[in-house]
Amino acid sequence: MTGSVHPALMSLETALERLLELAEATPISERETLPLGEARSRVLAAPLVADFDLPPWPNSAMDGYALRQADWLGEPLVVSQRIFAGQAPEPLEAGSCARIFTGAPLPEGADCVEMQENVEILADGRVRFLQPLKPGQHVRPQGQETRQGETVLNAGTRLGPVQLGLCATLGVAELQVLRQPRVAVLSTGDELVEPGQPLGPGQIYNSNRRLLCSLLEQLGCEVVDAGILPDDLALTRTKLGELSAVDLILSTGGVSVGEADFLGQALREGGELALWKLAIKPGKPLTFGHYQGVPVLGLPGNPASTLVTFALLARPYLLRRLGVAKVTPLQFQVPAGFAWPKAGTRREFLRARLENCTAVLYANQSSGVLRGVAWADGLVEIREGATLVEGQPVTFIPLSELLL
Ligand code: AMP
Ligand code: MG
Repeated sequence: MTGSVHPALMSLETALERLLELAEATPISERETLPLGEARSRVLAAPLVADFDLPPWPNSAMDGYALRQADWLGEPLVVSQRIFAGQAPEPLEAGSCARIFTGAPLPEGADCVEMQENVEILADGRVRFLQPLKPGQHVRPQGQETRQGETVLNAGTRLGPVQLGLCATLGVAELQVLRQPRVAVLSTGDELVEPGQPLGPGQIYNSNRRLLCSLLEQLGCEVVDAGILPDDLALTRTKLGELSAVDLILSTGGVSVGEADFLGQALREGGELALWKLAIKPGKPLTFGHYQGVPVLGLPGNPASTLVTFALLARPYLLRRLGVAKVTPLQFQVPAGFAWPKAGTRREFLRARLENCTAVLYANQSSGVLRGVAWADGLVEIREGATLVEGQPVTFIPLSELLL
């Protein structure tokens, strides 16, 4: 059963739609050329088009013998040449076969390969083929993977290890990519102390800074670490003003209801501000605004909320500024290993693990608990208004998706 969003709250879909519109209005389009080895996590600025057929020539998929299928008459054939990978073969002598190894070019005149397990080698060195052969068998034809002129990767593709490997198969040594987004990370809170410093009374360590800086680095951003900002209006103004050269200021904390709202106040004076109460849990309060033209996204301060809002909103926003089409994380259905008898007014993103392909929950779902996120394989989504009995399907978003 699913219900609708509480009228005072904004649905996740609406928030994402608005953020993506804002992102599309301010695309990052400056390009740079990078060697393949430095292009990881970047976004392709121009389509990758194949300059040649891949494979460039027909080759053997097996260790065995290459021959012309029509020459197989049940009679043994002499071996007229040996062809290893990396060698250029001679045309095949009529009525003979060639010893051939995986990846070696097929000699002109051959049209099939028999694997070595299916032949008998006679005392005089001739080879008897034990089974009938089909033209093309165990041959990787020219252009099987890609034809010259085909677009292999579209502009806007994120370059992970596999995409980079694919570029290498086409002999590409350099890529045109978009410049990195520059993102400033700002941790607000008088209570925050950096690891390595002693904790005073009432103080806690700043975990969001490391969390966000690492997530952004993974995403291919240039991180401007803006440190800790005390809860103070004048300091907030000064700090925001200093960050005029970034593409996004990503802050945490200071957006909970009831707290002196320094970020909001500074944005109201120095630009524009939208305060959103999202129908999600964790992660209800979210700020989006501009300070002197620079976009500011204020995520909630509780670390699990920071992670969830980064994954569902900040990451898609940044990817869309780079023109990436698919920005929302992969998700799939798994059976719930728990019951959810009481419907909520906000969509829950519960920290969960897959055990025997079934989602089980971390015992403590408090938004301040980062340990549960570290324990989890992913987030289970339970829609607002929904109830569940154990075994019913739920949506699972693997956390590994967010770390790509
Ligand atoms: P706030 O939105 O500033 O009221 O913060 C909500 C909760 O998150 C409070 O318990 C804060 O102490 C905590 N918090 C805020 N920022 C951080 C941070 N950078 N690292 C760890 N906890 C934080
Ligand atoms: Mg605070």
